Amino acid sequence: MKIDRIVAAPLRPGCALDRATSPRTSGGAGTDAGNTLARYREFSGAGSFHDTAWPPALCLAFAEGGAWGMGLTDAADPVVPLINDFLAPLAVGENAMATERIWDLMFRHASRYGVGGLASYAISAVDLALWDLKGKLLGRPVYELMGGPARDRICCYATGWEVDWLLECGFGAIKLACPLAEARGVAALDAVEALVAGTRDAVGDGRELMLDCWPVGDVEFMVRLAERLRPYRLKWLEDFLYPEDMAGFEDMRRRAPWQTLATGERWFTHLPFGEAAARRTIDIFQPDIRWVGGATACLKIGHIAEGAGLQVAIHGGVNDSYGQHACHAMPSNTWGELFVDSGPGVPLEEGWRPTPGMAVPKDGWLVPSDAPGFGVELGLDELEDMTA
Ligand SMILES: [Mg+2]
Repeated sequence: MKIDRIVAAPLRPGCALDRATSPRTSGGAGTDAGNTLARYREFSGAGSFHDTAWPPALCLAFAEGGAWGMGLTDAADPVVPLINDFLAPLAVGENAMATERIWDLMFRHASRYGVGGLASYAISAVDLALWDLKGKLLGRPVYELMGGPARDRICCYATGWEVDWLLECGFGAIKLACPLAEARGVAALDAVEALVAGTRDAVGDGRELMLDCWPVGDVEFMVRLAERLRPYRLKWLEDFLYPEDMAGFEDMRRRAPWQTLATGERWFTHLPFGEAAARRTIDIFQPDIRWVGGATACLKIGHIAEGAGLQVAIHGGVNDSYGQHACHAMPSNTWGELFVDSGPGVPLEEGWRPTPGMAVPKDGWLVPSDAPGFGVELGLDELEDMTA
């Protein structure tokens, strides 16, 4: 069956698929969580620069006969023309089941401008729409088509600020966002150590604790931070360097050899993961399925990890249906992350605007929907109403 057409459009801000309008706490306010500019004092403590002015992008892939699949990514304004004008003409007329071939065509085509960043966002949306379409055509959940289920359920951890509430929700592992970065020097080291020490007391010795340092740092600061935090037994230290600084990752490994290291949400395609596996610089790969190149790229990364004896923990893995299916399918994926930015007492099913049909963790565990495709329960009319 051939692909008939692929169309992308921006999502209307505030619609049910726009996760930027989920209920939020003020947990990240006044910190460097998500602040890429945190090395400069004039930006340090100014909060997150993670959110952009652009809404998410919806991508629909139609097969001959009218069957369709749905993909999502972020940064619609630059990404939508990349899909409609650059990738869609390449994929139309191809065999709709040939997800590996179509991914490789897009990957090679994008080399003209560079396959990373926004081009990878566009490839992700098309790839996810094609996997959803394939699942609907075959009447099976995507995790089965990807080779799963690998386990009977996904072990989840929570990332957020309201630790007591996250423990009450039943999570057995908690990840913190690093609140201050290197521009604050020793004051940042003191503040992060106080946060991690207090959280270790709260979670006890029977639960895992991780730290995400999303603000881009340098090796000197991160080695000192890792040394300060060693007594608190972090499961992993995450996103601690500028994403493209591959020599820096090697240096960090050499200077903090005891520390388990994780990264990958701002790596694109399978190639940087292959390089990191070859150099043994990272222990746990964290691709984001909506950014890295979709389900096809995640499968490649999972196989790279297995070939090197490493693990995968998909970024925000259980925050959407796409990540849930990939987490459930891949033996190398050991954790499902739920980012929780809703306040204490807000049920998880209300906290992240779950897509209709999407499962929500219960007592720290999750089983994805077994409906065909990614199990998203939205019709074409509803989706068209959500586009701008
Ligand atoms: Mg991260």
